[in-house]
Amino acid sequence: MTSKPELVVFDMDGVLVDVHSSWAWVHEHFGTNNEDSLKAFMDGKIDDLDFMKKDIKLWKRTNRYISRDDIVEILKDVPLIDGFQNCIPVLSERYETAIISGGLKPLAEYIGKSYFDMIMANDLKEKNGRLTGEGILEVELKNKGKAFDRLLSEMNFEEKETVAIGNSHIDAPMLKKAGTGIAFNPADKKVKEASDIIIEEKDLSLLLDFL
Ligand SMILES: [Mg+2]
Repeated sequence: MTSKPELVVFDMDGVLVDVHSSWAWVHEHFGTNNEDSLKAFMDGKIDDLDFMKKDIKLWKRTNRYISRDDIVEILKDVPLIDGFQNCIPVLSERYETAIISGGLKPLAEYIGKSYFDMIMANDLKEKNGRLTGEGILEVELKNKGKAFDRLLSEMNFEEKETVAIGNSHIDAPMLKKAGTGIAFNPADKKVKEASDIIIEEKDLSLLLDFL
């Protein structure tokens, strides 16, 4: 640890929950998939909001009356990562804690509202009890460092006072900025290169050895 941490920031998908993507979880439920739009997004042909719009459109095609609560119900079955219950209540007593996720805010709120002081994730716009088809962008997938900067300024912390935990290259910018970056359950080489500590084993309670 470079200095005593005060704020611990978590990615969600692959770190707090045992799925690679909460968006993909909902697609699996509906029997849809977002491979085409994912590719278009990765190739820079569409932006975050268009990407979300395309995803939601596929869900609405199977049920045009779908609500945000319906999505919450689907997401309630997402498994927590091993060790969540041993680790997160303890850390949320010791530190300020936050989630920064490009995943679905309804899931982040469902698993995190009792523990985390702040949650930044991407949400679904609703009107009159139905999804409108638009997303609400809080975390740009290719720019997590920007969300991290905003979180720090809103919560009034400096980078050196933070620990950030992530599992993929998408998290690399925030892991580099954080006082201490931890690659947990790492999915690729980039996330490891961006980190000071690497935890290969998918057990969140191992964090307690460091925090
Ligand atoms: Mg992740």
